[in-house]
Amino acid sequence: MPAEIIYLDNNSSTRIDPEVLEEMMPFLTTQYGNPSGSHRFGAQVKEATDRAHERVAALLGCQPNEIVFTSGGTESDNTALHSALQMSPERRHIVTTSVEHNAVLNYCDALVRRGCQVTVVPVDGEGHLDLAELEQAIRPETAVVSVMWANNETGVIYPLAEVAELCRRKGVFFHTDAVQAVGKMPVDLSGLPVHFLSLSGHKLHAAKGVGALYVNRKARFQPLLVGGPQEGGRRAGTDNVASIVGLGKAAELAMSTLEEENTRVRSLRDRFESTLLAELEDVSVNGDPRGRLPNTSNLAFRGVDAQAILLKLDQEGVCCSLGSSCTTGSVQPSHVLRAMHLPDDRARSSLRFSFGRFNTEAELDQVLEILPRIVRKLRQLAAA
Ligand code: PLP
Repeated sequence: MPAEIIYLDNNSSTRIDPEVLEEMMPFLTTQYGNPSGSHRFGAQVKEATDRAHERVAALLGCQPNEIVFTSGGTESDNTALHSALQMSPERRHIVTTSVEHNAVLNYCDALVRRGCQVTVVPVDGEGHLDLAELEQAIRPETAVVSVMWANNETGVIYPLAEVAELCRRKGVFFHTDAVQAVGKMPVDLSGLPVHFLSLSGHKLHAAKGVGALYVNRKARFQPLLVGGPQEGGRRAGTDNVASIVGLGKAAELAMSTLEEENTRVRSLRDRFESTLLAELEDVSVNGDPRGRLPNTSNLAFRGVDAQAILLKLDQEGVCCSLGSSCTTGSVQPSHVLRAMHLPDDRARSSLRFSFGRFNTEAELDQVLEILPRIVRKLRQLAAA
């Protein structure tokens, strides 16, 4: 493993920001009181978790008591769907999309095994939803619609305001998995008829294993985890204090740096793509290049096995992700690229590069020397 890595896998996880870690440290060392404790030592900790509610709420444009801290995106997604179904016992139908994260899709599969029905709305070749099709999928027995704000693999952004308005008109709960959107694009819930929104700390430079669920104060709610009265009775279990405090700080940093960082990160991503497209033949962008997160680039390198590129990049210290996954020994195109009807060979030659706060122009220069060299070499070998 090279001493220095170039990390282009920020949609998978991000480095904890040093300022986040600094705020977390006292709660891993000296400030170990339980925020639910009845002494002043615990009350100081409670003040810090209250502040975290305020900071995350400020990032989302909502009220602090609409934030429920969880163990991450997966728990938030599961909780939202669970709650919507619990609060509408006569309705057993869920509408979602074919490009959701498995935290939604596999939970839906589990719900089907418990007798629910799920309609999975398809996307087109650019990864976009047809809103008319989504509308048609909503039935009188639909309890909840779950549509992600931005896709983790392609970065494609979905028309949240329109989907939320549609759900309001139809009188169904609306949940959005905003795990990839929060911290990468402006998210303002004020005035949006969204009932639930999921976010995850480790995607925005906070710790792994912490996240939040926004629960609109007007939404009827049933917790998934039942026990103590934490998080206003909406998520039982002693708070993961250090990580919650860190998530609060990460939210504050995201808010103050969003605009400037996005311009910088977008220009890195755009230079990366335009250079590769100019230097190499047969490279294509997966997902609508115009309606994407500023940091994500999902590219197909025609005729080359993406796993081979990934391995070579890894040997040279460059981290990215496959557009396919290895299940029981065989490489399967990712469900997102398959949902976009990309041919299997294109999906198998696809890699996701996701830029972030700590990437530099100098790193990009290096990647733009390494990656074309690897692709050309692999193409020569394939042609020999
Ligand atoms: N939803 C999306 C869109 C994601 O990208 C991820 C993580 O990759 C998750 C949910 C799950 O989040 P967590 O890892 O915090 O459980």
